[in-house]
Amino acid sequence: MLLNSAQDGVQTKQDKISVTKGLLLNPNTESYEHLDEQSQQLVKKTIAFFENKGKEKLKNDDHERVWYADFLEFSKTEKLFATFLTPDKSGEGNKRWDTSRNCAINEVLGFYGLNYWYTWQVTILGLGPIWMSNNEAIKEKTAQLLDDGAIFAFGLSEKEHGADIYTSDMGLTPQKEGGYLANGSKYYIGNANEAGLVSTFGKFTDSGEYVFFVAEPTHENYELVKNVLNSQNYVAEYKLNDYPIGEEQILAKGRDAWDMALNTVNVGKFNLGWASIGICTHAFYEALNHATHRHLFDHYVTDFVHVQELFVDAYVRLAAMKLFAMRAIDYMRAASPDDRRYLLFSPMVKMKVTTQGEEVINALWDVIAAKGFEKDMYFEMAARDIRALPKLEGTVHVNMALIVKFMANYFFKPGSYTHLNRQTHGKNDDFLFQQGATKGLGKTRFHDYKKIYSQFNQPNIKIFKKQIRLLKLFLIVGKPGKEQIKDFDFLLNLGELFTLVVYGQLILENAQLLGVDDQLLDQIFAVMIRDFSKFALQLYTKGSTTLTQQTLCRRMVKRPAKNNSSLSYVWDTYVHSMKDQYEMKP
Ligand SMILES: Cc1cc2nc3c(=O)[nH]c(=O)nc-3n(C[C@H](O)[C@H](O)[C@H](O)COP(=O)(O)OP(=O)(O)OC[C@H]3O[C@@H](n4cnc5c(N)ncnc54)[C@H](O)[C@@H]3O)c2cc1C
Repeated sequence: MLLNSAQDGVQTKQDKISVTKGLLLNPNTESYEHLDEQSQQLVKKTIAFFENKGKEKLKNDDHERVWYADFLEFSKTEKLFATFLTPDKSGEGNKRWDTSRNCAINEVLGFYGLNYWYTWQVTILGLGPIWMSNNEAIKEKTAQLLDDGAIFAFGLSEKEHGADIYTSDMGLTPQKEGGYLANGSKYYIGNANEAGLVSTFGKFTDSGEYVFFVAEPTHENYELVKNVLNSQNYVAEYKLNDYPIGEEQILAKGRDAWDMALNTVNVGKFNLGWASIGICTHAFYEALNHATHRHLFDHYVTDFVHVQELFVDAYVRLAAMKLFAMRAIDYMRAASPDDRRYLLFSPMVKMKVTTQGEEVINALWDVIAAKGFEKDMYFEMAARDIRALPKLEGTVHVNMALIVKFMANYFFKPGSYTHLNRQTHGKNDDFLFQQGATKGLGKTRFHDYKKIYSQFNQPNIKIFKKQIRLLKLFLIVGKPGKEQIKDFDFLLNLGELFTLVVYGQLILENAQLLGVDDQLLDQIFAVMIRDFSKFALQLYTKGSTTLTQQTLCRRMVKRPAKNNSSLSYVWDTYVHSMKDQYEMKP
């Protein structure tokens, strides 16, 4: 309900409370009003699939590492992947690639189990290069395969090369009689056991040029070596042994193939934050239901002040994750050759939202303690899976290296853009498959963050704005030197400070669009002040920090405004009221 487009006329406190209460997913009540009728039904059927499967079977399949054939059968019957992952040009009816709609599925799949999300996610990645290519025959074949219920895979990583995809060893060797023979191995490739097509990245062995092509697991020269994981997922090592490739299997060559790899990751990494939101939301219900019913020393556990604080912290962080990620959808969908702001917001959904997810689970686990280990709890999976998300699709470091490239333009050279409304309408996101060259990131411009910050003056937002001003001053008078720029740990801390400014900006924009309760917003910024202070302190303690930098870092360390009633208000209004609102069917 909250994911709906701008809430016209949200004015009264009561309206704001009810909008804010609808922020987190509750599968029992979520109406998905922002989607068209058919899409609403499909998302609700996905929820029903998991509720009918039940928690016991869900957990058993996880423990026994059962391949999720039942979910894939559901997707095939209901044409879930086909409807959501076929661009409108390649399909009829309600088929379109719509980031807003896809994020509803991301969240639901994270909510019920990261394994189910993963098979959808790697299908998205596998489809990326195909939908981006000019190979119309492959696109036609892919649309048919999707319609028949196929999944897809993305063969980028190799065992020896990690993030360094420049050095890919998968090779295509030209043959005298025409065509090529593919040889090499790929590692960590989800769905590569059963995919209809495996989009594979490599190089031509003669020219060294990059190439993206498709391979089929059913071919006799495709060797499925093993599952490198012990999980429900099949994350494969596969080898191509003299696998014949013709021009008809090639998706792109040279620079286009390279861009295809990075542009696909731009689209895919966005989903990780949404999976994190889904995981944290389910874990939150479980933890709260447990703690509110647990009676110790003649008190409910939730009567302890520190327990309330941990819950409020977890709730506030989760609400912030969702507000940010929702607003980032708008920028993904509005992206164009002249508006590449998504290039900052997408890695932030990946890096910032997923690391915040870890904080949420940490806080909840401190409350529920032993219960979080029990095999019947969703929480047991959440505690394991939440840690995966910051590490996939590029580590936190790799994403931060990308994010800091935007810092100078963000602070010092704002661009001018018209106001962007919520983007929940049912259109195909064409641009995501025509992103073009991946160079020139440093030229990307952003709208002025001060515009939205100037419209909010709650006590903690005021303090946070002082921290921002000090960070800007740091970048002017304490500009990092050459050696500091080479020190990745220094850059990482600076990047964390920058990230918090951008995070706050989109949170405020979304809060204004939706009409979120100001008191919750103030609490969100109380947490952000603490985080900002932590990173400023870390920067201060670095050996290479200059005296000027140290002085500014010390001044950045600030305390949130003291307001006990605000904390108890959030506890009473938003946290405790979620008690017994959702429990997965047994
Ligand atoms: C469960 C799972 C599923 C996966 N699924 C797929 C899939 O379907 N398809 C696919 O292609 N891949 C897949 N991967 C691979 C995944 O994307 C990579 O594991 C991930 O990008 C990180 O690479 P790495 O683990 O090899 O780390 P490495 O690249 O070996 O990095 C090692 C360390 O160096 C740091 N580092 C590396 N480069 C830089 C840099 N430029 N700047 C700063 N620091 C740097 C990293 O942060 C890290 O700390 C999967 C991996 C797993 C575990």
